[in-house]
Amino acid sequence: MIKLVNISKEYKSGVKALTDINLHIHKGEFVYIVGESGAGKSTLIKLLLKEEAPTSGEMYINGVNVTKVNNRRIPYIRRNLGVVFQDFRLLNNKTVYENIAFAMEILGADPKDIRRRVPVVLNRVDLSRKSSSFPEQLSGGEQQRVSIARAIVNNPPILLADEPTGNLDPDNGLEIMKILNDINARGTTVIMATHAKEIVDNLRRRVIQLKDGVIVRDQKRGGYDE
Ligand code: ADP
Ligand code: ADP
Repeated sequence: MIKLVNISKEYKSGVKALTDINLHIHKGEFVYIVGESGAGKSTLIKLLLKEEAPTSGEMYINGVNVTKVNNRRIPYIRRNLGVVFQDFRLLNNKTVYENIAFAMEILGADPKDIRRRVPVVLNRVDLSRKSSSFPEQLSGGEQQRVSIARAIVNNPPILLADEPTGNLDPDNGLEIMKILNDINARGTTVIMATHAKEIVDNLRRRVIQLKDGVIVRDQKRGGYDE
C-alpha cells in the first residue's frame, strides 16, 4: 500500500530531516508515527502528500511510483490520501456541508453523487444536525470531525492525520480517536503522527518512532515510549 525505499530528505537549509527511511505499510493497518519535536514526523507526512519532494529514495502508493513531484500525479494522490491536520484547515466562508462537498467537487464528482455522499459522511462523524453551520460556530472537536468527514468523503484507501488531537481536550481527543478507529475498522489504512502519549498507550497499534530523522523503533502493538 505504502512503500518507502531509502528515502532521505535534506532541506535547502542543509537540515537532514529524514535519513534512509525504509517503510512498508500494509492495507488496513493503523500506524502511529511518534517522536520528539523535530524528529521528522511532519516531513514524512509532507512527502506522502507531495508537499515536499525527497532528496533521494523511492516512494510507492499502491504500487505506483510517486517519487517525483509531477502535477499529473496530484489527482492520484488526492484520490488515495485523505488528510487531517491539527488546525483543521476548514474554509470559514463555507458551511460544513459545503466544506465536505468541495472536496468532491475538486475531483470532478457528479453533483448527484455529492448530494448522496455528503450526508453519509456527516452521519459517520455524528454531525448531521450541523450541516448548515459555519466552522466558526462549531467547537474544536466538531471542527475536527468536519475535517475528518472531508478527508474520507472521496473514500481514500489511506488517511493521514498530523496531530489530529493536538488542539483538543482529552474528551474531544478520545471522540476523534473513536472515529479514526471506526474508519480503520472499515478498512482504511490510518497513519497518525502524534505526541499524545495517553492515546498511544491506551489504543495500542503499530508504533514507528523517529529520532533525528531515523526510524529507531517499529513495534507491532507498542506504547508511546520504548
Ligand atoms: P516533527 O514533525 O517531528 O516535529 P519536522 O519534520 O517538522 O519534525 O522537522 C524535522 C527537521 O527538519 C527539523 O530539524 C526541522 O527544523 C527541519 N525542517 C522542517 N521543515 C523545514 C523546512 N521547510 N526548511 C528547513 N528545515 C525544515
Ligand atoms: P446543485 O443542485 O446546483 O448541484 P446542490 O443542490 O447540491 O447544488 O446544493 C446547492 C447548495 O446548497 C450548495 O452550496 C450545497 O453545498 C448546499 N447544500 C446542499 N445540500 C445541503 C444540505 N443538506 N445542508 C446544507 N447545505 C446544503
